[in-house]
Amino acid sequence: AAEAEVEALQHADVAALLPVPGAESDKYRRGVVGVVAGSERYPGAAVLAVAGALRGGAGAVRYVGHGADAVIARYPEALVHAGPPSKAGRVQAWVVGPGLGDDAGRALGDVLASDVPVLVDADGLRPLEPEMVRGRDAPTLLTPHAGEAAALLGVSREEVEAGRLVAVRELAALYGATVLLKGSTTLVAPAGGAGAGFVRRPVRVNPTGTPWLATAGSGDVLSGLAGALLAAGLGAVDAGSVAAYVHGLAGRLAAGGAGVGAAPVGAHDVADAVPGAWRG
Ligand code: AMP
Ligand code: MG
Repeated sequence: AAEAEVEALQHADVAALLPVPGAESDKYRRGVVGVVAGSERYPGAAVLAVAGALRGGAGAVRYVGHGADAVIARYPEALVHAGPPSKAGRVQAWVVGPGLGDDAGRALGDVLASDVPVLVDADGLRPLEPEMVRGRDAPTLLTPHAGEAAALLGVSREEVEAGRLVAVRELAALYGATVLLKGSTTLVAPAGGAGAGFVRRPVRVNPTGTPWLATAGSGDVLSGLAGALLAAGLGAVDAGSVAAYVHGLAGRLAAGGAGVGAAPVGAHDVADAVPGAWRG
């Protein structure tokens, strides 16, 4: 029988995948996330990506970039580093891209040269070429929205929107990476490949999103959240789809309540609602 092309992530699957620290845990075993994000122009992206990583259960977050003062003001538990990511100390997963602006290229090359999982989002996707990803041994997770996916594929945004399933598969094949395509329904395609041994696994569809998440900075929170799950040891498909699921629930929780209707939320509200979404 033909394999299913798509599968919806179920509540019970997510519950089973959420990392919960055991009695023997320490901060290193829980996972250290490196975040390369923000710039003088966009320091807030740094804060939101760090927020996502902390709320995603990271044992520690190392921040590298121009938003250190803003990060520390909001999250004193973050470890901030000057200099290139490769000199920041050991991490178990990198998140690179939100708000980096035009000089994402060098930091991107630095983290892709590491031997740990890397999530590339936003401005980190602009200088990305397939050869930079294809040779990596550790997983790479790309998290474009439709416009970013269109730029990576060299097609129009309308073409991506008209064929999101095809687009996410094409990107996963072109880059040999797991691809999370954001939008009203978020899709997660396993890394594509070729050859006799390659098993084509279904694309995961996230059922929890809410249009209240369509707000500036919301994607930055998602990238930190997924980075924490990568650092905790989840594979790229699980990390991306669990992050999307929890992010969607957090958006609903933040917008919900006992008022007359749902209420607008900011991206930081979504980050703050993650623990409640996690509790279930
Ligand atoms: P970004 O485009 O990077 O800011 O990320 C936006 C986030 O909001 C992603 O997680 C999207 O999946 C989510 N999002 C945007 N629009 C919608 C929508 N109409 N319905 C549900 N989720 C959305
Ligand atoms: Mg974004």
